[in-house]
Amino acid sequence: MALIVQKYGGTSMGNISRIKNVAKRVKSWHDNGHQVVVVVSAMSGETNRLIDLANQINKNPDPREYDQMVSTGEQVSISLLAMALQSIGVGARSFTGGQVAIKTDDTHNKARIKSIDDERIRKQLDAGNVVIVAGFQGIDEHGDITTLGRGGSDTTGVALAAALKADECQIYTDVDGVYTTDPRLTSKAKKLSRITFEEMLEMASLGSKVLQIRSVEFAGKYQVPLRVLSSFDEDIDGKFDEDFKNNVGTLITIDEGDSMEQPLISGIAFNRDEAKIVVRGVPDHPGIAAAILTPVGKANIEIDMILQNVASNGLTDFSFTVHRNDMDKTIEVLNNEVKEEIGAAEIFGDDKVVKISLVGVGMRSHAGVASTMFQTLAENNVNIQMISTSEIKISVLAQEQYLEKAVKKLHTAFGLDREDGESHVAGT
Ligand code: ADP
Ligand code: ASP
Ligand code: MG
Repeated sequence: MALIVQKYGGTSMGNISRIKNVAKRVKSWHDNGHQVVVVVSAMSGETNRLIDLANQINKNPDPREYDQMVSTGEQVSISLLAMALQSIGVGARSFTGGQVAIKTDDTHNKARIKSIDDERIRKQLDAGNVVIVAGFQGIDEHGDITTLGRGGSDTTGVALAAALKADECQIYTDVDGVYTTDPRLTSKAKKLSRITFEEMLEMASLGSKVLQIRSVEFAGKYQVPLRVLSSFDEDIDGKFDEDFKNNVGTLITIDEGDSMEQPLISGIAFNRDEAKIVVRGVPDHPGIAAAILTPVGKANIEIDMILQNVASNGLTDFSFTVHRNDMDKTIEVLNNEVKEEIGAAEIFGDDKVVKISLVGVGMRSHAGVASTMFQTLAENNVNIQMISTSEIKISVLAQEQYLEKAVKKLHTAFGLDREDGESHVAGT
């Protein structure tokens, strides 16, 4: 008998027939004698609908009230799933984050989980019930509801698995695993049977939203066995046997495996959420980077890529990227606090850019990845605007219109294409 935490995302919970399907899946694990804790997201589209309602009143709503409201989507799905399970003869109890003491800090809208009290959950499991917990939400020290950031139900799942020392945390979604790149962009994307935490963390941080970044951080830190798999796969029958463990979905592992067999590149991630800010014609002397970036940092705006051009005539251009939602605010800060002080000629933003990244622990021991990447992009007339690298990734910033072409060409150039070209995206 195993203790399994299963998380079902919005598409998997998208309508009543899908919820009934999730109930059937959960029942099959329960019938096989496993203890099951289920974390669910709001029904697909519901969180966006709620956010839109709030924005119709205020574009920057009070964070506490926002959390109070946006967390309700999950409360609907937990109780619907409990009813669906009860109607097929499975004892089930649903709980909000607060009811099972998922304690967070009080940073509304992107709270961090501090602790979970597993007592209530254990009691229900010992009584033979399936426990259903609302994802994405917690409670702070003042007793207020908090939320964990978009996609946060993944983190609820992993945190519960860590607290309960579950045998596995299964993230059921609308694709059957983690792919070499978003399978919606190219049908040639290949499913990975394994990926290391380190690589998954890079992929998630660089834009692959199949798992929320924090859930991967959490899983790595607490060594939670984590699997991404499809909620539409009829062959999953609730048996936690070797066949399942070796063949289903994608396992996120600590082990890097045999380095000889390590592929150079595990995947290609991309991020459409970036915007480029250019500060033109600034005098090239020490302190310029600090003068530009300090006020931006103080305004709580995160900076990602940075580029300073070589000076000509003593003047240089300084560019960096921020989240697209922060573009206007960044320009405002620079115009108000920096432009005059440093004597910049012009400040402007461009939100038609995309960051494309190659990720792979195999890069550590191989040279030449960057040159193949740049050559492939050059051959396809994709202009590189910025570059940033680390030991296991290379990112470039390019014009958004080239995204699809660039990813497809890189995917082929690094030998990632699947042979049959069949797509495995379900439930859309
Ligand atoms: P859920 O609602 O189940 O949480 P998400 O939409 O958050 O689902 O995540 C699943 C989606 O992640 C897929 O539909 C897919 O388009 C996207 N995705 C992005 N990159 C990848 C990748 N490398 N592998 C698999 N899916 C990816
Ligand atoms: N419902 C939340 C969202 O849409 C949390 C989640 O789905 O993980 O972001
Ligand atoms: Mg998600």
